[in-house]
Amino acid sequence: MTDGCRACGSSDGRIVLDLGEQPAADSFPSADDPGPDPRFPLAMWWCSGCGLAQLHDDATTPDEPRAIEPRAAVQQAYDAVAELVGLGLLVPGEFVEFDSPHGGSWGEALAAHGFSPATGGRAGVVVDVYGLMHDRDQGAGLRARVDALADDGVLLLQFPTYAGTLRNREWNALRHGHFAYHSVPAARRLLADAGLGVVAARRYPLYGGSVLLLATRSGSGPADERAAVDALEDDEVAAGVLDPAAMAPLAQAPERDVAWLRDWVAQQPDGAWLYGAGSRAVAVLAAAGLPDGAVTAIVDGAPAKQGRRMPGTTIPIVAPDALRAADPQEILLMLPDLLGELRDAWPELSGRWVVYGDR
Ligand SMILES: [Zn+2]
Repeated sequence: MTDGCRACGSSDGRIVLDLGEQPAADSFPSADDPGPDPRFPLAMWWCSGCGLAQLHDDATTPDEPRAIEPRAAVQQAYDAVAELVGLGLLVPGEFVEFDSPHGGSWGEALAAHGFSPATGGRAGVVVDVYGLMHDRDQGAGLRARVDALADDGVLLLQFPTYAGTLRNREWNALRHGHFAYHSVPAARRLLADAGLGVVAARRYPLYGGSVLLLATRSGSGPADERAAVDALEDDEVAAGVLDPAAMAPLAQAPERDVAWLRDWVAQQPDGAWLYGAGSRAVAVLAAAGLPDGAVTAIVDGAPAKQGRRMPGTTIPIVAPDALRAADPQEILLMLPDLLGELRDAWPELSGRWVVYGDR
């Protein structure tokens, strides 16, 4: 990379996934904007110096509309806080939360266990859930988190792990505005460079596989927890997160996924309905080049996206009411984490959800 690794500064690495020119995934044009939308190079570069997979270049201006958090993510926050407090790994006190455009917050879950927002100075708990990946400079971004942390404080860092991306061949996790694709070994190295040691880790199924790391300045904690961190790291190394040769299947996946999507859409004679205008849907729809009108609409609950269209396509983003009025026989769900809550919200649509990725 011209400016070197976003974490360690090394220029030693390689491109492991190249999607060519793609529309900016976080820029949803108005539905009446005829386009064409500007396209920008989109590639993933893997650093041999520290093992961090990252966005190669980004000429776009981040403008990510605030998404609505899946119920599964809210539940995970409550479950994680309850478990960690129960084990004594977190002790109620003041917290500072670094925001994520993904719309989630652990504030309520922490408040439910007696934590309160910091009123100034450094806090005993610093929370970053899906935030750090949006920092162009990973070293500087992490230092800002560490600066907010009291000497004996705990940093909670949660990210969609690159190990999950490799296992699921989820090439469309790559997008403009997401600068880092952390794995456990790369995140441990990044944290170590900022003076923190990982004392515990948890894995969750969210977003294709997420990891939560707990890190402190002392780096000391229960031996069984630290052994579990090592085991998780070994598991991710086995998945190929430090082996560029193991990343080749990721580069082959777009062709397969686009072919599957084209087939499925072609089988919807009255026009296809999709659900979930998230960033992972942007890349696959822009790449598929579907005929105008083949997809009637993509539904999204976030008001900030309704009335817009998917970048690089003519597919309109509409509110859930339109889906219920159209009453299609099948709906392709682009964000599997939403399945539980959608089934509960609309029992009349049960049996009609086709989950993207279950192919
Ligand atoms: Zn690096």
